[in-house]
This record gives sequence, structure tokens and C-alpha cells, in this order.
Amino acid sequence: MTADPSPAAATLSRWLTSPRRGGLPIREEGAASPKLSFEFFPPKTEALETQLWSCIRRLEPLAPRFVSVTYGAGGSTQQRTHATLVRILRETALVPAAHLTCVGAARDQVDAVARMYHEAGVRHIVALRGDPPAGQTSYVPHPAGYAYAADLVAGLRRIADFEISVAAYPEMHPAAASPLADLDNLKRKIDAGAARAITQYFFDTETYLRFLDLAMAAGIKVPIVPGILPVTNFAQVKKFSAVCGTSVPAWLARMFDGLDDDPETRRMVSAMVAAEQVRLLQANGIDEFHFYTLNRPDLVFAISHILGVRPLSGALARAESGAAAA
Ligand SMILES: Cc1cc2nc3c(=O)[nH]c(=O)nc-3n(C[C@H](O)[C@H](O)[C@H](O)COP(=O)(O)OP(=O)(O)OC[C@H]3O[C@@H](n4cnc5c(N)ncnc54)[C@H](O)[C@@H]3O)c2cc1C
Repeated sequence: MTADPSPAAATLSRWLTSPRRGGLPIREEGAASPKLSFEFFPPKTEALETQLWSCIRRLEPLAPRFVSVTYGAGGSTQQRTHATLVRILRETALVPAAHLTCVGAARDQVDAVARMYHEAGVRHIVALRGDPPAGQTSYVPHPAGYAYAADLVAGLRRIADFEISVAAYPEMHPAAASPLADLDNLKRKIDAGAARAITQYFFDTETYLRFLDLAMAAGIKVPIVPGILPVTNFAQVKKFSAVCGTSVPAWLARMFDGLDDDPETRRMVSAMVAAEQVRLLQANGIDEFHFYTLNRPDLVFAISHILGVRPLSGALARAESGAAAA
């Protein structure tokens, strides 16, 4: 018999000779659910406040171990961040974490905000340096301020027994002198008293997993929780990624190619991309995830469901939130 040179036979032959891959493992019945945390930003308008609260109400039954509220550049959202945290404490079963930055403020001002949080009942702080204000390209520490996040962590430890999370950058912070210097900085933040790091969002799982290896080799022993950003608006994410140092792989651009005017398909693609990312992380043993919700619940709810998390009824959710935070 002679070899069939037709295109159809070539296709079948290519299919038959391609590497075989098993599917991602399915989570076993009865396995522990992953620990989740959700990040919100404080709303600027009444309409955004309504959107945030419908987001919080939708995600609350998933019993995250904490929800964090961001702090606008240079403390610009101080009042709104505080008001959001207080309302979360008063009206929900959730454990709130307050973001706090060093930029543009003296130490005693930053300390006063931390004390105010503590008095309100907030016991968890995400301690950050913050970005330079708009129009300023490089960061200059406030002359009387905390210069870097590691200094802020040490300052917070002197104020109260806060649980402290810090930021980590699998692709290196864009202003770091080198990956090693950035890792040293992360180690300083942990040594100063942080209990975990939360990563900048990333799309390349390999890069994150390699970063965990490097962190371990550098003597870091706390969890480095992956920050997951479900992509709702690709053009915006691409722009923001260029600033914050996250690389956008060509395959991701191809996924959203041609969908600018097709929000319905874009949503399905977004869910698939994020689900694949968290499932791959889960298959690699990762069981803690921090979601950048952008105050939109649907994708986060769906992805949490795919991870095996199910909504709990009120009382149970309260008990679980408390236990998970401990
Ligand atoms: C999970 C997460 C949440 C965030 N939330 C907010 C938020 O709510 N509000 C906000 O404004 N921003 C937020 N950011 C952004 C963050 O403020 C910026 O990425 C900022 O540029 C760096 O903050 P950092 O805490 O990582 O800084 P640091 O850990 O202080 O590091 C900043 C840079 O300085 C370098 N460095 C550290 N120490 C020294 C030193 N002694 N000498 C020289 N260089 C040094 C580091 O290598 C790094 O390049 C968040 C980021 C993440 C990942």
C-alpha cells in the first residue's frame, strides 16, 4: 500500500502523532475547599456603592477567609476605604483587611490611620508602599514617612497585633534593581512580620511556580498567594499590565482578538481563561487564591464554583469565615 499524500490523511496523521495530554485532575469528592480572599475598591459614587454591595452580598456566602479594601494612591480614598471597612464589619459576617500605603504621608499620619482601623475592629492590614503620585515617574519617600513596605510592616507591628499581608511580584516589581533584590525585599517584609504575600496578577503560571521555588530557596516560608485577575476588559488590562510589569502573553491577546464588540463571547472566554489558570494552579497543589474582583462578582463566583467552593447558608458562612480567618 502506498502512503496517502492527501491533505485529509496528513491531518489525521498530525492528530495521531501529536503529544497526548491527560486532562487536569478533577478535585476529589470530600477534598477540602480552597481558601479564598476577595479584593474590592472603595466606591466613589452612589451607583458604584450599590454595585459594590451587590458584589459583596453575592460573594459573602462563599465564606472567604478575608476580603480586602484598597487604599487609593496617596491615601486619596482614606475616608471611603474606612467607611467601606466599617460597613463590612457592621453589616456582614466577613473579615475585612484594610490596604494601607506609605506614599505621601508622615509616619504619624499613617500610624493614625492604622490606629483608626484597629479601633473600628479591623485586625488585618495589607501593607504596601504605594505608587508615585500621577505625574511623578519615580518614587520618592516622604521625608518623615515609612520609606518602603518593609518599614511599614515593622511600624504596624509596633502599633498592634495586626495580621499583615504584603505584595509580591512573580515577574519582579517594575522598579526593582533585579529579581534577586526584589526577592530580598520580599524576605525583609516577611521577616518584619508579614504572615503572607499576595502576588501581583499574572497570566503565566510557570512564572509564578518558578517564583515560588526562588522564594523557598531565599528562605521565605509563608504562603505566596496567587492574585487572580479575571480579564473582563482586555484592552484595559493590557494597558495596566504595561505599567505594573505583568506580561501579557500572545496567546491571551489571541483569545480576545476580534471580540471588542462581542461582550457575550468575551465573558465566556474570560471565564474559561481564568478557570484554566486556577485549575492549573490547583493541579499544582495551590489551594489559596486572592481574587481581584474589580467589584464585579459573576466571574469570581463562577471560578470559585469551578474550584469547588459552594455557597453556605448565613450562620454556617459566619462560622466558616471566622474559622478560615483564624
Ligand atoms: C496585592 C496588591 C495590592 C495592592 N493594593 C494597593 C492599594 O490598595 N493601593 C495602592 O496605592 N497600591 C496598591 N498596590 C500597588 C503597590 O502599591 C505598588 O505595586 C507599589 O509600586 C509597590 O508596593 P510594594 O508594597 O510592593 O512596595 P515595596 O515592597 O516597598 O517595594 C517597592 C519597590 O522598592 C524596592 N525596594 C524596597 N525596599 C527598598 C530599599 N530599601 N531600597 C531600595 N529599593 C527598595 C523593591 O524592590 C520594589 O522595587 C497593590 C499591589 C499588590 C500586589
